[in-house]
Amino acid sequence: MIANDISHCQGCIFILLYIPHVYPKYACKKLLIMLFSKKYYVRISDKVRRDDMPTISISKEIETNGYADCRNITSDVQEAVKTSGITSGIVTVFIPGSTAGVTTIEFEEGVVNDLSVALERLIPKDINYKHNERWHDGNGFSHVRAAFVGPSLTVPFMEGRLQLGTWQQIVLLDFDNRKRLRRYLISIMGEK
Ligand code: ZN
Repeated sequence: MIANDISHCQGCIFILLYIPHVYPKYACKKLLIMLFSKKYYVRISDKVRRDDMPTISISKEIETNGYADCRNITSDVQEAVKTSGITSGIVTVFIPGSTAGVTTIEFEEGVVNDLSVALERLIPKDINYKHNERWHDGNGFSHVRAAFVGPSLTVPFMEGRLQLGTWQQIVLLDFDNRKRLRRYLISIMGEK
């Protein structure tokens, strides 16, 4: 693929050098527009991505209790990276839904509880939310907490290993006001 691209570029250079002597106006306008157009570059980058940067996506399920329930999913993400056969690149964890989030934390009882308390101080359960007035589902706080934390996280990996800190784990947080069966996605992109 690289060889083809090089020969393709050599062909273009030849046309650029040769054609101006024959059709000066044509070369200056049409060829330069074609070669430097956005469409041309998009086509080349698509080729590179398909052949050299494979992407593998895995869907997983987890049962959660809501109310900032914090689950350590680091080993699942690490396992997905290992079995993908991709040795270095990035892995994105994404949770569909507007009442859950993904982040990192030191996964120990103390700081997990501290996070829950901090969220309660910042975004309390028992204040008025326009969302609750409109939908009467009582989880306005869940939506706001989820928006603050964010629904996804990207982590680099090298030689099949996540480049996390020693005390840093990937966690899924469920902020809803009830139990849920959650589905989340692990998308791995990189070099084999
Ligand atoms: Zn709601």
